Amino acid sequence: MAATTKQSRVEEFQFQAEMEQLLHLIVHALYTHREIFLRELISNASDALNKIRFRMLTDKNVLDPDADLKITIEVDPKEGHFAIEDTGIGMTRDELIREIGTVARSGTLEFLKQLQQQKGAVDASLIGQFGVGFYSVFMVADEVTIETRHADPDSKAYRWRSRGTGTFTIEEIDRPNRGTRISFKLKEDAREFSDPERVKQIIKRYSNFVDFPIYLGKEQVNRVTALWQLPKGEIKEEELVEFYKFIANDFNPPLAHLHLSLEGAVSFKALLFIPETAPPVFLRDDLEKSVHLYSRKVLIQEHSKELLHEYLRFVRGVVDSEDVPLNVSREWVQSSPVITKIRQVLTGKILSWLEDLAKNEPRKYLQFYKNFGSLFKMGVNADFEHRDRIIKLLRFETTLTEPDEPISLQQYVERMKTDQKAIYYLTGEHRDLLLKNPKLEYFLANEIEVLLLTDPVDVFVVPSIGEFDGKPVQSIEQAELDTGTVEKSEEALSANLSDNLIQVFKQVLGDRVEDVVVSRRLVSSPVILVAGKEGLDSQMEKMMKLLDRDFKGSKKVLEINPTHPLIKNLARLALGDGQNSLLRSCILQLYEGAQLLEGNLESPAEFVQRMTEIMQEATK
Ligand code: ADP
Repeated sequence: MAATTKQSRVEEFQFQAEMEQLLHLIVHALYTHREIFLRELISNASDALNKIRFRMLTDKNVLDPDADLKITIEVDPKEGHFAIEDTGIGMTRDELIREIGTVARSGTLEFLKQLQQQKGAVDASLIGQFGVGFYSVFMVADEVTIETRHADPDSKAYRWRSRGTGTFTIEEIDRPNRGTRISFKLKEDAREFSDPERVKQIIKRYSNFVDFPIYLGKEQVNRVTALWQLPKGEIKEEELVEFYKFIANDFNPPLAHLHLSLEGAVSFKALLFIPETAPPVFLRDDLEKSVHLYSRKVLIQEHSKELLHEYLRFVRGVVDSEDVPLNVSREWVQSSPVITKIRQVLTGKILSWLEDLAKNEPRKYLQFYKNFGSLFKMGVNADFEHRDRIIKLLRFETTLTEPDEPISLQQYVERMKTDQKAIYYLTGEHRDLLLKNPKLEYFLANEIEVLLLTDPVDVFVVPSIGEFDGKPVQSIEQAELDTGTVEKSEEALSANLSDNLIQVFKQVLGDRVEDVVVSRRLVSSPVILVAGKEGLDSQMEKMMKLLDRDFKGSKKVLEINPTHPLIKNLARLALGDGQNSLLRSCILQLYEGAQLLEGNLESPAEFVQRMTEIMQEATK
């Protein structure tokens, strides 16, 4: 940032180049939701107040140690003036230059571009989950002034002023008090925000649960209550909903909530929520979020990651424990046995909560699972203590379920056929593709239920389950197919003919395959590739290849269907002349076709060329 000294006292600075674009996008994309500028300003003020409160727990050597912690808003409807002031930590000169005027979050521009592409049809819930920050103030003001003084006892006060793009100025001023005041004249078409009633309404909507009093003139507008500290009976449903919207920045009500008040080895109160919807993919930083840690109503740490296992980080809310000392450091939180204990208890409680939901409100549970299942599943491999409970909470679509009507492993086991030895699964990209997979033919024909796994996470989770209710969990590629036989209308090749054909297949395919065998599972497809004895399930192999470019999959076994007319034709050709070029082309084509079905075809060009040759031959 190049400083060009204009006068002796006022310095002018250049904004980051992206700011212009950011501002343009903010103003245009969020035009119909301009009131959120107030939420952003209040939230910054509240952050600043939290910071000073936290610092004063251990360090009283600050400016104005006795100042009330509060936010004051002043409006002048006649002149259209607006000002918001806090007694928070304030900003140093460096912070003013560094923090104000940079595109803070990485997703910001991306998000706003998406909004702009929607051309006005902006989904309010999106904005809720996304902070656009200080800059939103330029939606309602042409020029903004920040006056601030940091809480360090020897700090100086500064005035920052800007029209939002191009440049900003900074000068030293006299300001006796700690904190920050932001003021501006509202644009003509934004004068509504100087109407006290309108301002009150906005505060109530977005900021009612801010931890510090918000005054509009002399009147306190919000209610500062630690809702989680109240006895259950005293919290109204709508308060819960409002509180959730506030802490999760969500426009929708929560899917479910849980209020805990525990005493014992560790004591804490908690108010927890499951969101109704998952944030859109490009805003998904679930793992960065968590519940907030309080001690005696004082915020100790936002999004305290230590409080929840990663796989439970879809939960929002607060945990307040008297066992957490007020004057703790980040390191303390990371290593404290108190936090470990809270996490342990919390995990058990959250799992019970999900179990209840699954039992008593299955619709809701499935909605939760649809939104957060991929994250939750990771618990199988991450939390061994609760592994069995997590596995019971998993849900899967199967060959017998309707789409979006997944079942539990328990339900699967209950309707297993009497002679069925294992729980079978097939993995792939989506349900429709899976249902057409030749590997299923045997199972469909025998009415054996198969789990259809389409979530990429499944290939890491499901194989590791190993066993459920005494039944092995097995990929159908690795299944031993001795349960039942398929009724076949076509007569199969004689053993002689098929042995001969298999020899030719082996000769043509060479070491591309581990083996060629007669299939017991195929009904209507001519061939299929399955994992060899030591091999991985094909979907698993695909994931490994994605993770590791050098990963070499193991060789597969090619199974041929002795009842298929094409296979019979080939057997006849093979009997005549094993070197027949059409026969050899067909074998290669069948092999690569099976690879293609798995999404593993290495040489599409050769495949297409050979197909052309075969068609040419067939149409001679
Ligand atoms: P965010 O709050 O998401 O970081 P903002 O653009 O709203 O993004 O604010 C940028 C930074 O400016 C804040 O992180 C904070 O460091 C500083 N800041 C903004 N408002 C205040 C305030 N009222 N008091 C102290 N610092 C503030």
